[in-house]
Amino acid sequence: PPEAPDRRVDSVCPWCGVGCLLTYELKGERILRVQGRPDGPANRGRLCVKGRFGQDYVRHPGRLTRPLIRRKDAPKTLPVDFDPGAPLRYFREADWEEALDRAADGLLRIRDRHGPRALAGFGSAKGSNEEAYLFQKLVRTGFGSNNVDHCTRLCHASSVAALMEGLGSGAVSNPVSDVAHCELILVIGANPTVNHPVAATFMKNAARAGKHLVVMDPRRTELAREADRFLQFRPDTDVALLNAMMHTIIEEGLTDEGFIAERTEGFEALRDRVMADYSPEAMAPVCGIPARTIREVARQYARSRSMIFWGMGVSQHVHGTDNARCLIALALMTGNLGREGTGLHPLRGQNNVQGASDAGLIPMFYPNYAPVGDPDTRRWFERFWGVAALDPEPGLTVVEVVDAIHAGGVRGMYILGENPAMSDPDLNHAREALARLDHLVVQDIFLTETAAFADVVLPASAFPEKSGSFTNTDRRVQIGRQALDPPGDARQDWWLIQAIARRMGLDWQYDGVAAVFEEMRRAMPAIRGITWTRLQREDSVTYPCDTEADPGQPVLFRDRFPRGRGRFVPAPFSRADELPDQAYPWVLITGRQLEHWHTGAMTRRSRVLDALEPAPTVCLHPEDLAALGASPGEAVTLHSRRGRLTAYARADDGLQRGEVFLPFAYVEAAANLLTNAALDPWGKIPEFKFCAVRISAG
Ligand code: SF4
Repeated sequence: PPEAPDRRVDSVCPWCGVGCLLTYELKGERILRVQGRPDGPANRGRLCVKGRFGQDYVRHPGRLTRPLIRRKDAPKTLPVDFDPGAPLRYFREADWEEALDRAADGLLRIRDRHGPRALAGFGSAKGSNEEAYLFQKLVRTGFGSNNVDHCTRLCHASSVAALMEGLGSGAVSNPVSDVAHCELILVIGANPTVNHPVAATFMKNAARAGKHLVVMDPRRTELAREADRFLQFRPDTDVALLNAMMHTIIEEGLTDEGFIAERTEGFEALRDRVMADYSPEAMAPVCGIPARTIREVARQYARSRSMIFWGMGVSQHVHGTDNARCLIALALMTGNLGREGTGLHPLRGQNNVQGASDAGLIPMFYPNYAPVGDPDTRRWFERFWGVAALDPEPGLTVVEVVDAIHAGGVRGMYILGENPAMSDPDLNHAREALARLDHLVVQDIFLTETAAFADVVLPASAFPEKSGSFTNTDRRVQIGRQALDPPGDARQDWWLIQAIARRMGLDWQYDGVAAVFEEMRRAMPAIRGITWTRLQREDSVTYPCDTEADPGQPVLFRDRFPRGRGRFVPAPFSRADELPDQAYPWVLITGRQLEHWHTGAMTRRSRVLDALEPAPTVCLHPEDLAALGASPGEAVTLHSRRGRLTAYARADDGLQRGEVFLPFAYVEAAANLLTNAALDPWGKIPEFKFCAVRISAG
């Protein structure tokens, strides 16, 4: 019989933005099993393979249990054959006093000698809301600049830029569960079966119950099997396809004139542009979708109560903001916003990327998206945080920080739970930057590829070892509860941030995460009605939530948009930064796999998940594979202008010929060695979804 637990603890899944509620079944300091909670609003009892079987990373023997200080003679390099245990020899163990003093002294020295902007911090969307809030507060009030960012810059920054510009709010308008109320679900540039598996089950069930499902993607995904229409457009041509849909809707009088007149602005300029340049017939050869199909899908979307879901296939382009502008315009011109079963939903990746952004872990906004450039807002936060002056300039984004290190502007960093030595584009450039830093403090649970470059490593807590709140893709603020003690001398992350803050002269006296959350409520009107006590009682409350009696607002924009009128912004069709050519004729698309999460720091240390996907694979169309003279399972080498790697070939007839798909979780074949660091000018997101490569067998 299965081993009986000695206790159960209710919490939230640490992996993706769906935010499934779960129960840990525990015995001593072991997680025996994980069950989905039937009352979880986003999962209703369901869990995917990561949530159910991927939690054993917590007790992996590689967990950091003692603070580490770099040895004087240790090289700052990442060996090609990186063995996660190997860099341990670069460090010696230290006690907490020495490690924290060393960490803070190095940061202080740089701030005092080179100024506040010579420091930067990367927080993490895997941390709690409270950790994100404290970390950005430390950078703004202790470091003295706004150089704070996290992986939202690498996933939905362009979507948020477009949503803020068009609607005045960067969050989703409707929850995933609203698919039960719609007539049509449009999924574009997203692979929810892999990246948001439980959300995908809601979509599949809705399709099987008779809702129309339209999937648009350069790669045929598993969800496409459930769709009544699948449009496999050419990579990089989203704007052409979406503008052509708008052309049809306008030409055939399918716009919602009342909605446009009462609630929007800028329609005429967009209409003129779309009608002049983007007929379906003109765009069909560009995007590879017949004009008749474009027209049929456009009509179906406009005539239905429709929801749009999108992912990083839309956002991770140099024209990611333009892609999202088109989706917003589609919803605005058809009145598909402000009601159940309509709306715009950029599927959030990490379990707390929404909450970390809300809490101000971004360089241009304080908590609650209060702009750092606005003098009144700045004065409010100066009073609230009790500091004389905050930096009036927005800080640097993730890739800009890397460039600033190379230029000598940024000299010291504190990185909490992020792994830029794997997640940044053009990794050789990013790793060289980490090696150049005068002082790097890394706080994490494993000696990650990034920690290998650190001067001081602070061992922190895994997800089940701490309590905190996390905000899922639906805007639900949910409580995660501590189920285990951290191993050895590892400490809770909020405690470590406070310890650094105190050593940098800040008089912080938080006695736990509840106190941090209560301070956040005072700075963030959107969560004012969510108390810590309420979270403990209800587990999950959706914001905006005005009062403690307010059940929360799952559907936004019923009467107005936060910016007043919804704004149409025309999006011209433009191409990727680096197009295929004779030397590099293939298109590389990077992404994730079901079994591995992002840079693999945790999932590759999970016994079950690692057994399911133990080695790096690169997917190619079977005919391309044959043309290369390679068979599935054989090694192929990919080269770009920035790097090269070798991975095992996998046949995937969901790809179009000339496309290659590569997951970015594997250090031995790190996909970002190849990717291009060119940025979308508004969202500052790199173009992970398109660069030119060449491939050779062997
Ligand atoms: Fe966890 Fe996401 Fe899977 Fe739910 S769908 S169990 S949140 S990884």
